[in-house]
Amino acid sequence: MAILIARVTSTGPRAPLSRLLTVPLGLDVWEVDPEFVVLQAEEAQAARLEAMGYDVEQLQTADAHLSDFATELAMTGYHSAESLEADLRGLAEDNPEVAQLHEIGRSVENRPIWALRLGERRGSSRKVAFFGCHHAREWISVEVAYLLAEDLLAGAATDPAREWLQEGEIWVAPMVNPDGHEFTRTDNRLWRKNRRRNANGSFGVDANRNYGYMWGTLDNNTTSSVASDDTYFGPRAFSEPETRAVRNLVARQLFGGVLTYHSYSQLILYPWGHTKKEITDVADLREMRDLADDMQRLIGGVHGKTYVAKQSSGLYLTAGDTTDWTYGEYDIPSFTVELRPATVMEGGFILPADQIQPCWEENKPAAHAFIRHVFAKPQP
Ligand SMILES: [Zn+2]
Repeated sequence: MAILIARVTSTGPRAPLSRLLTVPLGLDVWEVDPEFVVLQAEEAQAARLEAMGYDVEQLQTADAHLSDFATELAMTGYHSAESLEADLRGLAEDNPEVAQLHEIGRSVENRPIWALRLGERRGSSRKVAFFGCHHAREWISVEVAYLLAEDLLAGAATDPAREWLQEGEIWVAPMVNPDGHEFTRTDNRLWRKNRRRNANGSFGVDANRNYGYMWGTLDNNTTSSVASDDTYFGPRAFSEPETRAVRNLVARQLFGGVLTYHSYSQLILYPWGHTKKEITDVADLREMRDLADDMQRLIGGVHGKTYVAKQSSGLYLTAGDTTDWTYGEYDIPSFTVELRPATVMEGGFILPADQIQPCWEENKPAAHAFIRHVFAKPQP
């Protein structure tokens, strides 16, 4: 049975587009726009949507999408779990005064999960964390996080990096989900979850639905209780070693802010994800909104790309994601940045490798603004 990438629109009140996201249909949602949703679905699922009254336009079969974008050339320049480890080790060895590599946990398949700690002194009250690759297929999220660390070390002798590395700590964990990432290299380029073997024989928990704040409070296409679904939230909060690794690091370090890279869609998202309601603390809301707007402006200023700043649930509802947890539990500014590209026809999750560098370049000033903002408010 063919797997399709389809653009779904609503033709009338019988099937409102918003309902498409809230009914549990086991769909893999890729893009959400007020006018349409792009998703990956089996032919039978697509037929079901049509029967429900939706307009389903096939953009490509998944196979055609893969042969267009997942070329040998498109892989060149992206890290594997192994090459990432080697490069992170290299950075730590070349910069022993300011960089140490930490194994923060092990994946389901026992791969180390690495975080590079940057900073001259320990126990600073200024600490910030960046994460990449909760979702296996989002390769660019590894690269932007990695390049941030590499670039900070390359600039360690000059401002602003010098000052930050003297006064604070910047932790970068570019690949939270190494098993899934490896699986996208060997088996299925469009795999999203980790590689947990579930009770029903299916594989994978969505690491970005497994965090312990309002975990399991939704059940729909984008936060699912069904183990075979792409957004399966797991049997309980923090059931997965990958999310426990992040939880334990955050609990130990008490960061003043967390930013996690994903792809694609070019968005800057802040809590909440689990509810359409705004954050009730007006000062926090203003702080995150202003910072998101700043980041949007800074990113746009580099190569003219628009990354839209908005509340996470404005994209779609998600319970148990990283930033709802870091904000809900620790009350710190927390962002999800969805990187390039904007649309599936530009590659979707399979960003051509020649865009790694420009994607990093445009995200650099936004990451720096985030560090500057967090470091301006030392944690008690
Ligand atoms: Zn993601």
